[in-house]
Amino acid sequence: MSSHPMFKTCVAHLRPAVPSRGRAQVWRQATFHGRGARYQSARQFASHSVKVNGQRLWDSIHHTAQWGDSQDGGVKRLTLTDEDQKVRSWFTETLTAVGCKVKVDQVGNMFAVRPGANMALPPIAMGSHLDTQPAGGKFDGILGVLGGVEVIRVLHENNVVTQAPIAVVNWTNEEGARFNSGMLGSSVWGGMIDLDEAYSIQDVEGTTFRAALERIGYLGSEGASHKNNPLAAHFELHIEQGPVLEDTNKTLGVVNGVQAMGWTYVTVHGHSQHCGTTPMDRRNDALLAATKMIPQINVMARETEGMSTVGVFNSEPSSPGTVPGKVRFSVDLEHLDNDARDLMVKRTKEICAEVAEQEGCQVTFEDTWVSRGVRFNPLCVETVTEVAEELVGKDGFVTLPAGAGHDSVNTSHHCPTSMIFVPSKGGISHHPSEWSTQEHCTLGVEALLRTVLKFDKKISR
Ligand SMILES: [Zn+2]
Repeated sequence: MSSHPMFKTCVAHLRPAVPSRGRAQVWRQATFHGRGARYQSARQFASHSVKVNGQRLWDSIHHTAQWGDSQDGGVKRLTLTDEDQKVRSWFTETLTAVGCKVKVDQVGNMFAVRPGANMALPPIAMGSHLDTQPAGGKFDGILGVLGGVEVIRVLHENNVVTQAPIAVVNWTNEEGARFNSGMLGSSVWGGMIDLDEAYSIQDVEGTTFRAALERIGYLGSEGASHKNNPLAAHFELHIEQGPVLEDTNKTLGVVNGVQAMGWTYVTVHGHSQHCGTTPMDRRNDALLAATKMIPQINVMARETEGMSTVGVFNSEPSSPGTVPGKVRFSVDLEHLDNDARDLMVKRTKEICAEVAEQEGCQVTFEDTWVSRGVRFNPLCVETVTEVAEELVGKDGFVTLPAGAGHDSVNTSHHCPTSMIFVPSKGGISHHPSEWSTQEHCTLGVEALLRTVLKFDKKISR
């Protein structure tokens, strides 16, 4: 994995923006459109003197879950639907009421920015997503955004003046469930996907991403790019979605990176033939070939210490009386190391080609999505580590990589980034039973609050 020299550049670039000579003046002159007449700088606060309101956070999580309530404890809130529009309105109203200005960019990414003393600095962001999987839960992504909302509320009611502006970001279509390109909003912002390419992606009904944005009024005017809308940092609080914290009895995860992942679609081309009249030795059975490929890919992934999943499998013509002529299936391949994942993709294609040949079939591949593994910014990881130590002690947290893709992968290429995990009950996510306790959610937001304040101090030093 690369060490991303960009990180150093970003942080180094921020420092001269606050010359030490002028800093005292900046603090004295700080004005803030919050309530109350007396303003205090974050510097005067020990970060633990301001507290998260755990009940308010919990209430927000359950209140907003009405938009997409799946009646089984979960949330179905696909991106840019009416439900998504409603939670977006709530986001704007709630954050405007506590002194934020909400910007919407060309792909519907929302940036609620609370002013800082030095408006020449880009905002320190707390970002995640409010969209869910079709049978999703109340916490995946949502905790990161609503945690950010809670942090802003706490800063507001305590009249805290930070040096940098602080933002809450709601990234569009993180799940990739409706428009099949995961982390789409942050990918456009990060320059990984062109705006026009993103606009042309269609959902299953043929609605383009652009049309969907327009329909709910979220085709914003702000340029969807880190260039014109930069961030000083991006911190993402997220549920772990895995079993490590729970199994090791830890309450916080300091996330030091994200593993490499991506999707390859395999299409096996055989011949559709009458199943009664075509002898067994004269067949080109695409389904038979595909079902021989899948276990071999699984064994290869285990041997490489990576992960493989076949999640989509379609057979044509799907008739009990016909030898299947065409099968298309997806292969998700993941590994902590970029090179090792590249090798897994290569081996998958070799396995499929070998089996296809044995079964008299042909095979073609489409690499539809790749997310390179990243190591998060050392200063960000260090800051989260310090906060975790303060909150739960050395034995209360674990440092680990994320096993799932997150918007933080995209931001990490353009600003110092890291993530904070809280335990997921049973390691379950993307399911209505997804659950994190109120205590754990509150602790995570407390960590987010302290991290932001600490990082603000570090970059204004
Ligand atoms: Zn998520």
